[in-house]
Parts: sequence; structure tokens; C-alpha cells
Amino acid sequence: MKKTFDVLMLSGDGIGVEVMAQVEKIIALFNKNEKLNINFNVKKALIGGVAIDSEGVPVSDETLSVAKSCNFTLLGAVGGPKWDGLSTDKRPEAGLLKIRKFLNLYANLRPIVVFDELVEASPLKSEYIKGLDLMIVRELVGGLYFGEPKGVRTLENGEKYGYNTLAYKESEIERILAVAFEIAQKRNKKVCSVDKANVLASMKLWRDVAIETHKKYSNVELTHIYVDAMAMELIKAPKKYDVVVTENMFGDILSDLASQLTGSIGMLSSASLGKLDGKDMALYEPVHGSAPDIMGKNLANPIAMVMSLAMALKYSCNEPVLADKIENAIKCVLKGGFRTGDIKSPSTPQNQILGTNEMGDKICHELASVL
Ligand code: NAD
Repeated sequence: MKKTFDVLMLSGDGIGVEVMAQVEKIIALFNKNEKLNINFNVKKALIGGVAIDSEGVPVSDETLSVAKSCNFTLLGAVGGPKWDGLSTDKRPEAGLLKIRKFLNLYANLRPIVVFDELVEASPLKSEYIKGLDLMIVRELVGGLYFGEPKGVRTLENGEKYGYNTLAYKESEIERILAVAFEIAQKRNKKVCSVDKANVLASMKLWRDVAIETHKKYSNVELTHIYVDAMAMELIKAPKKYDVVVTENMFGDILSDLASQLTGSIGMLSSASLGKLDGKDMALYEPVHGSAPDIMGKNLANPIAMVMSLAMALKYSCNEPVLADKIENAIKCVLKGGFRTGDIKSPSTPQNQILGTNEMGDKICHELASVL
């Protein structure tokens, strides 16, 4: 009897559709392989701009309830210039914030791994990034993006006043630190907590709770750093770090910064994990957006999306071997010299620069040979 997983596929907008199509090929490969003990039951729904156009909202209640019932959700990307004029709460990105909040996905894991084959694609000197393997753990349902009060109001003098609040409860800080410590226990046993405790009261609480939570994980080393210093460190000495845990917006910015260490945002996957009504919830997505500048041109790098499926196999299906096979298939393709446009180097021959579909096919081909 095969293990069956219900998967909700939300391709979204722009290149989200193109990169998700490559993951569908891999899932089809798994489903038709008699030797594998795993099967995926794929459901599809809309999110982002396409959902606004056809359902009137960036994510419908029906889609949210399907996501809740599934073992995990795969998401492409949302957004695009067509919807840029809408108010913040009606834009495609609101759908993303809503599903994260609805599924209570409080822990966002962003592995920053530099493949040996791509060391040259990074703007940094190779000695700084060769062998880099860092995990950024970002708090995802609190902090500055969700804190109340927030809004724009008009002052007595007629001037507009915009405000957001960086707020956390102790329990919210404790649970994200616990995730970071638990991941570190399976890695190099080092956690660096990033805050701004010298200026922000809520971040001073963050540091205090980090110190308190650490008492339960004494085999892990804990260090603290201010977010501005961390921005410098990630460029200067990223290999010093193992697991980095931080607030929602700090994590958003630091992980985009760190993406450049790997050469392209098209290489970075993410997992968002949480619990709802006692059941594990998970959503896997690339870190990049819908890339309107390259959409529809078969130029998008699908590796981040494919790596997101590998993360799902690891964290939601307990299939680390299958996840490694995907990762190895990607490495084989890169070792063969094949690149998408975003990770090519001046020495990449023209016939080895692949489109989205061709890169997806190459990865499938390598993977099929080891299943
Ligand atoms: P973006 O990540 O879409 O693109 C930034 C740059 O990286 C672009 O030059 C793009 O071509 C390139 N890029 C991104 N992914 C790539 C890939 N897989 N392969 C090759 N190149 C890639 O960010 P943006 O341009 O700031 O935003 C575009 C839209 O996406 C906006 O509407 C934004 O709100 C939305 N967005 C969505 C998400 C998400 O769905 N999680 C994340 C970020 C931005």
C-alpha cells in the first residue's frame, strides 16, 4: 500500500505557473513509478492576481479550507503590475499573507546553500561562500507585518500619518526559537538570534525570551546580533553561521540579501511550517516573486521551485532519501554545465543555457535514472 499525500498546488501568477509546471512533471514521475512507496493526489486552486480576476479575492475561503485539509501546499508566486494599483488588502500579496496566517505557518525556513558548481555565479569571492550551508528561520505570522495598530490616518493639520507596530507575545517568540534550536540540533548546533534589542522594546523581549528558551537546549550554542550588524556579517563572513533566527520583516530582508550569496534568487526554496487544530500545516514555495520582467519567456529558473518540493519530501513526507535524489539530480545537471540565464557565466556555452522547460526536463531525466 503506497503512502498517499494530498497536495494543493497554487501556481499563482507570472513565472509561478512556469516553474510549477516543472514540479508537476516530477510529481508525475513519482506517481507512475511502481517501485516507489509514495503517491501524490494533486488538487489545484487559484491564488494572487489570477484569483482576484476570477474569484474576486486574492485567496478564497474555499481554497483556504482545501489547503487546511491537504498534507501540504506548493505555491509558485503571486503579483504583477496588473494588480499594483489595488489597495494593500486587495492585492495578490494579501492572498499570500492570508494563507500563511490562516494555516498558522509561523516558522519559515530558508536554506541558503551554495552549490559547488555555482560558486562562480555569486558576486562574492569564492573563498567567502564555497561550502556555505546556512538556515534562516524567519518568524512568519507576527512582528511588523501583522502587529496592531497599523494603518494610515489623517492628522489634525491634514497631514497623512502611516504606522505599523512591531509586536510579539512571549509565546510567539518562544515557539520560533524552539524551531531554530531543534533544527540546529540536527545541524552544527549553533543558533544566532537576530534582533534590535538596543532600540526596540519588543526586540529586547525577543532577546530575553531567546536566552530563557535556550536553557532547554543547552547543547546548542546561542549568540545574539543586531539586525544591521547581521546585514554586514552575511556579506563578510556568512560561513560563520549555522542557524539564524529572526523577526518577520528582518528575516524577509536578510534572506533576500543572503539569496545573492547563492548567485540567484531563482535557487532559493522555502518551507513554512505550523500547526492548526493540532494538525501539522506546511506550505512550500520559492523565495522569488512572479518576475513580470521575464514571465512567459521560458527564462525562469525552476530550481527554487523544485527544491521546494524536495523540502516537502523532507519535512512533510518523511522521505529524506527522495529529497536527496532531487537535490542530486539538480547537482548532476549543474555539473554537466547546464544553466538557466540567471546563473550562467560568461564562459557558459550558448547550447548549455536552458529555458525553464528544458531545465525541468533535464532534472526529470537525471532523477528518473536514479529512482
Ligand atoms: P521577483 O523575485 O519577482 O524578481 C526580482 C528579480 O529576480 C527580477 O529581475 C526577476 O526576473 C528575477 N527572478 C526572480 N525569480 C527568478 C527565477 N526563478 N529565475 C530567474 N530570474 C528570477 O521580485 P519583484 O520583481 O520585486 O516582484 C515582482 C512581483 O512579485 C511583485 O508583484 C511582488 O509583489 C511579487 N512578489 C511575490 C512574492 C511571492 O509570491 N512569494 C515574493 C516577492 C515578490
